[in-house]
Amino acid sequence: LVRLRARLARSQSSLGRGLLSLLSGDDLSEEDWEDVESTLLLADVGVAGTSELVAALKERTTVLGARTFADAREMLRDELLAQVGTTLDRSMRTAADDRPAVVLVVGVNGTGKTTTCGKIARLLVADGRSVVLGAADTFRAAAADQLETWGSRVGAVTVRGPEGGDPASVAFDAVKRGIAEGADTVVIDTAGRLHTKVGLMDELSKIKRVVAKQSPVDEVILVLDATTGQNALAQARVFAEAVDLTGVALTKLDGTAKGGIVIAVQRELGVPVKLVGLGEGPDDLAPFEPEGFVDALLG
Ligand code: GDP
Repeated sequence: LVRLRARLARSQSSLGRGLLSLLSGDDLSEEDWEDVESTLLLADVGVAGTSELVAALKERTTVLGARTFADAREMLRDELLAQVGTTLDRSMRTAADDRPAVVLVVGVNGTGKTTTCGKIARLLVADGRSVVLGAADTFRAAAADQLETWGSRVGAVTVRGPEGGDPASVAFDAVKRGIAEGADTVVIDTAGRLHTKVGLMDELSKIKRVVAKQSPVDEVILVLDATTGQNALAQARVFAEAVDLTGVALTKLDGTAKGGIVIAVQRELGVPVKLVGLGEGPDDLAPFEPEGFVDALLG
């Protein structure tokens, strides 16, 4: 966890330092506020989040008067935490007595979906839970192999079907296997084709429907690549219309200084960022913690 924090801090701290030097000292000029605003926008906080933050910070600075660096840090920390939403429920649902928890992982190819499935399994196994992985991305040739490699790496069973087969039938088989084995969680990787919204909706709702014959889907996690900024938001909108999301896994935060995307995603979707990806290795996925994240952001 310390290592993850350090990695996050390294990629994020430029935002914090820039803002803190702007916000400490005497009253800010109109130009300074414009700099604050553009720093936030550049960090992918988004238009709505930025204007709310700037308004709150303006009000606080008026009340506070001259600010030390520490004052500025405390103020910014409070306001960022308010934006990140400390009250959001970020827990992942766990198994019922008689059936495994079912986690559907959705997102566009290349965002890190398959990797995230493997890492989720890793987190759960490390927590003492047994996991079945379902390779329902039957569209991308290498996806099932890749998932199987993750499965053997982290100690999870992988269920796969024929290439080009029906994703819903693989998902069904994976849940069946999960029930048979008394597994705690079934994590299902889905195809990331962003063809038409109707096509996507049909495919995902079919998977949910077929899976629900045995066990309802507990979580639908959307994987978004943090380095793609506003494009990630556009993808999020399409998925949110196609399926009821319960959470977001934001990957590749190690590769961007634009951590503000966490705020934008939650505002836009109204669903919590539950997991963050911080690298390519099995341990590089962490539950999202607002306080740790904001501290890392501030450097
Ligand atoms: P998919 O097509 O969405 O299933 O994407 P993959 O899981 O195949 O991942 C695409 C690439 O992103 C791979 O090279 C992964 O190793 C890499 N990747 C996934 N998550 C992260 C992350 O959190 N950080 C970094 N740096 N790379 C990641």
